[in-house]
Amino acid sequence: MKNHVRVRYAPSPTGYPHVGNIRTALFNWLFARHHGGSFIVRIEDTDVARGVEGAVEAILDGLKWLGMDWDEGPGVGGSYGPYYQSQRLDKYRASAERLIAQGNAYYCYCSPERLEQMRAEQIRRKQPPGYDRRCRDLSQSEIAGCRLENKNPVVRFKFPTEGKTTFTDMVRGEVTFENARIDDFVLMKSDGYPTYHLASVVDDHLMEISHVLRAEEWLSSAPRHLQLYQALGFEPPRFAHLPMLLGTDRSKLSKRHGAVSITEYKEQGYLPEAMVNFLALLGWSLDDKTEIMSRQELIENFSLERVSKTAAIFNREKLEWMNGVYIRKLSPEDFIKRATPFLEEGLPEEVPLSDDYVRRIMPLIQERARTLAEIPGLTDFFFTKKLEYETELLVGKKMDRESAGRALSLSLEKLKPLEPFDENSLEALLRPLAMELGLKTGQLFGTLRVAVTGRTVAPPLFQTMAVLGKERCLGRIREAITSLNRV
Ligand code: GLU
Repeated sequence: MKNHVRVRYAPSPTGYPHVGNIRTALFNWLFARHHGGSFIVRIEDTDVARGVEGAVEAILDGLKWLGMDWDEGPGVGGSYGPYYQSQRLDKYRASAERLIAQGNAYYCYCSPERLEQMRAEQIRRKQPPGYDRRCRDLSQSEIAGCRLENKNPVVRFKFPTEGKTTFTDMVRGEVTFENARIDDFVLMKSDGYPTYHLASVVDDHLMEISHVLRAEEWLSSAPRHLQLYQALGFEPPRFAHLPMLLGTDRSKLSKRHGAVSITEYKEQGYLPEAMVNFLALLGWSLDDKTEIMSRQELIENFSLERVSKTAAIFNREKLEWMNGVYIRKLSPEDFIKRATPFLEEGLPEEVPLSDDYVRRIMPLIQERARTLAEIPGLTDFFFTKKLEYETELLVGKKMDRESAGRALSLSLEKLKPLEPFDENSLEALLRPLAMELGLKTGQLFGTLRVAVTGRTVAPPLFQTMAVLGKERCLGRIREAITSLNRV
């Protein structure tokens, strides 16, 4: 048994990194950090046709954003490199040739058309799909004939046709597959590239990977890999297949459930620490109640014993809630620092952001924001020159235009001389004013809130008015009175 923990995250750059895939990366990273082992990033770029430009960068950026540092891999190197499979083709070819020489693999000359026909026939006869092994036992003269017809054969593995393949999965326990149900899968494609099966077995061996933690969809590949390890005379790593991720409707997580690429979460204003906490709980738990855990606590407590066998539900509302918890935990300074790029992006361009003004606004919304991207929408009234809202909003419950107008006019009169224009003096002035007007405080404050912010829901009124400042507040109250007088 290899005693140093070496795990790998092995993404295929065929698209932007999906949250499910990043969850796999995180579990590997937590496992490595918990055991003081190595976390390796290996790019599985052997599917040339499906490669997507920019995908590797997006994957690595996602890891960096989440603070998952890697000990070996792109950018950092390591003594088991190269870490791009496309740069290791000689190794796969050598293994394939060895398997052929040993009689564990063979060239298959079947054309794509023949394979297509075979598949159609299998479907018609309701037989299980799979290669029918036509080229498995060709004689030398048959091979010579085939060579003339197909110059680019694939290499297939001679999978045992009898018996069972059994292994102990660290999450699922003992798992057994009937060998007869597994076909002679391809090891080397006709373009000279290895398949995922061959490349991942060869690399996991050469990179001395001790544990393979990967998504459940790969469980059915495990018997293939185990037979390959055996044929190559390699000691297999230990396997742990992580539970599937489902949406709240229990269907496989997809675009329909909102953003799925990790980059989108960053753009939508999620904090990396919240994201890490949330992803860690997708299929792992400390106990049945703990939700908020720091990166350090996750590292200390992570174990495969507590990875669940059942699918994990990706609940967007829970993510928003958790992100809000993390936003509230930030120091005011840190909150401002993280919010600023979102403010700069989300507010109208002509607005110059004064540091001091921003510094006074931010504490008013830190309690309320669930994502950083919400911040421009929560604060735009602090910045816009002219508020746009329906005049009727000024008229609260059990009020009419006249009483709203009176409330605003009297407020205007009383506010003019108010000094200092701060939270306490505003409160001391406006509470009794409601009584004087024969209104409930809620009615007066509601009308004033709409007048100064243009909306019915906003941060606490007195603080908001104090930050807006006397000049802006009085100007906006005047505009509100004018619009009430307009019929
Ligand atoms: N390249 C595979 C993927 O992107 C890796 C699967 C594995 O971890 O073995 O899912």
